Amino acid sequence: GAYARPSQQQVDSVCPYCGVGCQLTYHVSDGRIEHVEGKAGPANEERLCVKGRFGFDYAHSPDRLTMPLIRREGVAKDPVAVVHRLTPEQVRAQFREASWDEALDAAAAGFRRILASTSARGKQSPVAGFGSAKGTNEEAYLFQKLIRSAFGTHNVDHCTRLCHASSVAALMEGLGSGVVSNPLRDVAKAEIVIVIGANPAQNHPVGASWIKNAIRQGTKLVLADPRRTELARHAWRYLGFRSGTDVALLNAMLHTIIAEGLANTAYIDAHTTDFELLKAHVADFSPEAMAPVCGIDADTIREVARAYATSRASMILWGMGVSQHTHGTDNARSLIALAMVTGQIGRPGTGLHPLRGQNNVQGASDAGLIPMVLPDYHRVSEPDARHKAEALWGLPPGSLGEEPGLTVVEIINAAHDGQIRAMLIQGENPAMSDPDATHAREALARLDHLVVQDIFLTETASLADVILPATAWPEKTGSVTNTDRCVQLGRKAVPSPGESRADAWITEQLARRLGLPWRYDVAPDGSATAGAACGIGAVFEEMRQLMPSIAGLSWARLQREAAVIYPVADETDPGHPVVFTDGYPTPTGRARLVPAALRPPAEEPDADYPLVLITGRQLEHWHTGSMTRRSDVLGAIEPAPVVSLHPQTAERLGLGGGDAARVRSRRGQVALTVRLDEGTPANTAFIPFAYAEAAANLLTNPALDPFGKIAELKYCAVTVEPVRAG
Ligand code: SF4
Repeated sequence: GAYARPSQQQVDSVCPYCGVGCQLTYHVSDGRIEHVEGKAGPANEERLCVKGRFGFDYAHSPDRLTMPLIRREGVAKDPVAVVHRLTPEQVRAQFREASWDEALDAAAAGFRRILASTSARGKQSPVAGFGSAKGTNEEAYLFQKLIRSAFGTHNVDHCTRLCHASSVAALMEGLGSGVVSNPLRDVAKAEIVIVIGANPAQNHPVGASWIKNAIRQGTKLVLADPRRTELARHAWRYLGFRSGTDVALLNAMLHTIIAEGLANTAYIDAHTTDFELLKAHVADFSPEAMAPVCGIDADTIREVARAYATSRASMILWGMGVSQHTHGTDNARSLIALAMVTGQIGRPGTGLHPLRGQNNVQGASDAGLIPMVLPDYHRVSEPDARHKAEALWGLPPGSLGEEPGLTVVEIINAAHDGQIRAMLIQGENPAMSDPDATHAREALARLDHLVVQDIFLTETASLADVILPATAWPEKTGSVTNTDRCVQLGRKAVPSPGESRADAWITEQLARRLGLPWRYDVAPDGSATAGAACGIGAVFEEMRQLMPSIAGLSWARLQREAAVIYPVADETDPGHPVVFTDGYPTPTGRARLVPAALRPPAEEPDADYPLVLITGRQLEHWHTGSMTRRSDVLGAIEPAPVVSLHPQTAERLGLGGGDAARVRSRRGQVALTVRLDEGTPANTAFIPFAYAEAAANLLTNPALDPFGKIAELKYCAVTVEPVRAG
């Protein structure tokens, strides 16, 4: 087998999948990855999950894009015909191969033409860009710089909007910073760990292994989730609350802590504001009043609240179950308030940890791939931040606007309405990942000019005018930042196929064609020199000038140490795994307590659509499936789309395990196979969103959280019925 073959080369890098950020070693022979081993990185200590260990062969898939493609004259874009894999004949019918010069010229000319047709700029610009949380920090930085500099707009965003945008909105508002306070492995130092709205056993598996290890050493786990997921077996208390009632449960805990005198008044006095507001607000949320709302009995709510408040060290980890709601920001406000009123923050084993999904969603956000902030979260409304960026980027003063740009779903809506007419998309797949996918695909198809950089002809790329073939993760060198704020180095291990080129190179070439004087001279093959005179190192050094958080992390130091946790002030600073040890980066230096309202989901079940739909991920498949569904091992374990139903719900609907079912919402329908699952709540359907042939997002509701602008991907109303043969 592959393990017995000695590899010619071993290259240390980082896993391309989740935010845990496991370090790994690629074993390479003849330019191909033979196998992968876990390396002793700070987040994983040689551990890997099934994705990290076996999900590498997508890079060698015959589906890889190897030549630039241009849509053939007169071939219409069909948003209804979007499929997971176009056949080679379908590709040839729609696109023709082009040289890089021709494709880059066509890409740039399209943007120039559309910009010339209107004087609208800023939020009203006809152009927008989606960058990627799967590229490197340098790629994210260059992408936002290109959109802002060349197109005069902050209409640049990425999938953080569909991930933790509401968590970050609440953290920025309350604490003045969106980062995690403590690393994931601090669970070993905690007495109580609350995991809410997250399924780390599937989505952060090595993280889950650290939680299980901590439990063995005496840590008590409280798992709060409507779905009884695998970690429930290890939990001290499992709170299977009713979907969408997070605020009821959390405010009842806050009520208990304050009413029973368990609040940490010394911490509240020293480090917070607006406690009296919060206290008055949660007075109405007694456990007795909230038990019927959230479905957890009052005694259990009190027991968990007391344990959290009085333990030596308590930590909260959360995921998309908290954030992907129209009240996602309120959910996160309640979690922040729990940590603040108990002072369970600022020490090892305490704090707040929103588990980042993608391998570089933290880094892409840090690098400014967000419409309301420049690198390091300096708001575009801050004149000093704008002036500093303009000076560094060689832009005339006043070039950068003070009004934030549009967010992901707003950009898609503006494309549907005809305001946005051209888009540059780097490695994202909104035709699969955005809510109400039919609407999103129509919007993409309506664009006059869509340029997509990707490694595969994704569902989104199939609607493009120009497709630029990019390098995959193991084919390039660059930095990446995990959920712990740890900046790590991904290293090029294998050559990229055909004419594919590094995303950073593509961005630089586009910038030059759009009149920007960029001279990084990024290498087309994804390689980077150890020096920072040019290439990726030069990009990193420039980025550092706008980012005080990594001021002390030079490109040379990153080469030497390969993993450094920011903030890092200077070259001698070892980095800080725990932050908020003595106050907060807010104007007052204090955290603000913000009461959270109890609001229902945007669309509730009714007679026509009586079930709740929860969407999410699976252990084996990653997000929209473009990579993992092209991995042999992962595809073999989970080959086809399923809908999970509780056995009693399935029986009531006339369905058994393995039966074909149709799931419908007000927005669309999909057909898939029933999987019986005792952990799925009654009258609820769970569908992973990785499968184009039954895309869960054809069903989801695009209603947005008013603060984070995140869609309610965790709750909408559906009906499930058997598909009758014939
Ligand atoms: Fe990769 Fe995450 Fe699995 Fe680690 S836990 S191997 S980072 S997918």
